[in-house]
Amino acid sequence: MDLTGTMEEKNNELFIGGIGVKTLKEKYGTPLQIIDQKALKEKISCFKDNFQVDGLDCRVVYASKAFLNKYMVQLVKSLGLHIDAVSGGELYTILASGMPAERIYFHGNNKLASEIREALEAGVGTYVVDSIADYQHLSEVAAEAGQRIRLLLRVNPGIAAETHQYIQTTTEDSKFGMSMTDSRIEGLIQDMLADPQVDLAGFHCHIGSQVLKGNFFFEEAESVISFAKKMSENYGMKVQELNLGGGFGVYYAEGDQPFDYASFLSDYAKYIKTEAAKQGLSELQAISIEPGRSLINASGSTLYTVGQVKVTKAGLPFIFVDGGMSDNIRPALYQAEYEAVLANRLKDPVQATYRVGGKLCESGDVLLKAAALPEAEAGDLLLMPNTGAYTYSMSSNYNRMGRPAVVFVEDGKDRLAVKRETYADMMRNDLSYEMDE
Ligand SMILES: *Cc1c(COP(=O)(O)O)cnc(C)c1O
Repeated sequence: MDLTGTMEEKNNELFIGGIGVKTLKEKYGTPLQIIDQKALKEKISCFKDNFQVDGLDCRVVYASKAFLNKYMVQLVKSLGLHIDAVSGGELYTILASGMPAERIYFHGNNKLASEIREALEAGVGTYVVDSIADYQHLSEVAAEAGQRIRLLLRVNPGIAAETHQYIQTTTEDSKFGMSMTDSRIEGLIQDMLADPQVDLAGFHCHIGSQVLKGNFFFEEAESVISFAKKMSENYGMKVQELNLGGGFGVYYAEGDQPFDYASFLSDYAKYIKTEAAKQGLSELQAISIEPGRSLINASGSTLYTVGQVKVTKAGLPFIFVDGGMSDNIRPALYQAEYEAVLANRLKDPVQATYRVGGKLCESGDVLLKAAALPEAEAGDLLLMPNTGAYTYSMSSNYNRMGRPAVVFVEDGKDRLAVKRETYADMMRNDLSYEMDE
């Protein structure tokens, strides 16, 4: 594993943000989600500064489902990002953390009436329409509230980006969005343009996640732009915004080769502008992207304490840690791969290959299938880097495991962002069983 961000080795111990992992363990316990705040801010600035082109409002919309809490919302707000929400719960967290509602994009393939009302009440800036039924529902609820809303229509260009099948989203049978070649799509667009309740401002597209080749995004932009041009020609639609989604791939383990974000993003913004101008989309004002994992994953690590070491009759020996699929379900859900180090003995020679098992009651609760490590002992600190995205946000209380604490570290300062969940926290909604008289 390479040391990234502010990671450094001092006396054989891993330091992040100027603080040793032993200190962090002592102060906050394990499992612990550690965020390298400087690395995170630099990554956000890399996106903001490079996804830029003259004459257009270039927006970076943080895909909040990757990692969402008050501290994170306030951080991305301070750095000028927009943000998306997919549920009433995400919307509530984002608004309660002080994000201006006009910076929110509200997504969802099955937006509930209650969620739409909450969004209307707050004054959410843009709604992303997923289907005909979703549009009709949105328009109805907005009409009841007497509000006009700004919409983008989510379209699928049918690009099969090479990625894991569970996180590839624009095939023709996709759960999300509407195929550009669906015979009903032009009728829908005409209906939307005629609807006084809505302002159809443009299109949205998201081709999938963990896409490691930049060319797919250029293909996506090209097909969305030519579709937009057709709609503008055929129906006089004023295409003001194109939101081309996220999915920019990240490094998890050996073999992953993400493209260089900085040069990709500046080329991408220029390409979209040039292509849109070529196609005569003269009303275009804003272009947006929606990165999630590419913003947060690399700056997040998870720290565990090693407990038992178990040699089974066959297969690699296990080392068990004090967390597992309750704090990181991705290995079990997507066969996701990661790396690990013994963070309290960083330079010790690698002597063994282990399976890293969690402590939950599932055979699939294996965080790493093969980790080359020094001979591990109870009390060692195992750190899994590149675990910032879709870990905490997908965590659960399975086996009544409390969710980890989340701490941001920078320049020798540690700031607790989310407290560790206690046993009592997990019982807060439980009620007593009362026997009938
Ligand atoms: C999940 C999602 C994203 C972010 O995907 P990443 O792989 O985390 O960048 C962006 N837009 C939409 C609509 C999504 O569903």
